[in-house]
Amino acid sequence: MKILACTEPGTLVYGEKEAPIVQPGESLIQIKRIGICGTDLHAFEGTQPFFSYPRILGHELSGELVAPNGAEGFEKGEAVTFIPYFNCGHCIGCRSGKPNCCTSIKVCGVHIDGGMVEYLAVPSYSLVHGEGLSYDELALVEPLAIGAHGVRRAAVQPGEYVLVIGAGPIGLGTMEFARIAGGKVIAMDMNEGRLAFCKDKLKVYDIINVTDDDVMAKLNEITNGDMPTVVIDCTGSQRAINNGFQYMAHGARYVLVGLQKGDICFSHPEFHKREATLMSSRNATRADFEHVIASMKKGLVDPVNYITHRVQFDEVASAFKSWLDPATGVIKAMVELPNG
Ligand SMILES: [Zn+2]
Ligand SMILES: [Zn+2]
Repeated sequence: MKILACTEPGTLVYGEKEAPIVQPGESLIQIKRIGICGTDLHAFEGTQPFFSYPRILGHELSGELVAPNGAEGFEKGEAVTFIPYFNCGHCIGCRSGKPNCCTSIKVCGVHIDGGMVEYLAVPSYSLVHGEGLSYDELALVEPLAIGAHGVRRAAVQPGEYVLVIGAGPIGLGTMEFARIAGGKVIAMDMNEGRLAFCKDKLKVYDIINVTDDDVMAKLNEITNGDMPTVVIDCTGSQRAINNGFQYMAHGARYVLVGLQKGDICFSHPEFHKREATLMSSRNATRADFEHVIASMKKGLVDPVNYITHRVQFDEVASAFKSWLDPATGVIKAMVELPNG
């Protein structure tokens, strides 16, 4: 089968490999769609934490289940996606109902080889039913689940002002699920095009351009002087994350969905006087995947909106570099496999 590997930062190489032989407890998927995400781009750039090369990228996947090996309730030929965070099942994270932060987690396409292949063997426990959704939609469940998980971590309540910083694909999903939870979503970014998308397509409550606007004054105005009671970072930018602390209302929660390599730095007195809560949000759980799929089926989210670029598998290597450039207007690039 054909594969595409990231052999070192900046280099993607096509190759051939034997199709995987499924082991007990694994099922085989014929890949139909691969969504490209910030993690893939950062891995390609060489800026992704917890990463080694060579690696086959790709974790936003959908396909046809060709061998449902021990996957109860799944049928050969059905459309599926899967939860690409493989967990050990017995560590403190797994025992606490948090397989998404298992101490020895293996994220497909990050710690182990991922989905830029024609056939992929995955643990049968990770499979998720397609529920009549299209392959495009199914490949978008994972990035949306990341946002849904962040919103769940924040426990967003109806009527709260929720500031989401960063309007990339993860930020957009976070905004959608904060809105579904009843929050008044304020989208913040430096890209006017993306902010316009948030306003027109996502119907957010308000937008703030961090480059042009007086952010503190505008947040004050929007929230009637309260400031947001939930701040969620989806930039993974150290500067943006450090800046985010000052946007919190007293009693607010600050959730870090984005990840960066450096140290976080904030004023203890400023944090303390707010009695603020800081939390990270890692990956997502099956409950988040199910929430996303149910929301798609109800028409509450239409993530196919996010697809700005579409390429065939054999065009990925040449197109990949261009997706690093925000000037291309890329939100979500979707890869189709020939058999798709
Ligand atoms: Zn992703
Ligand atoms: Zn574990």
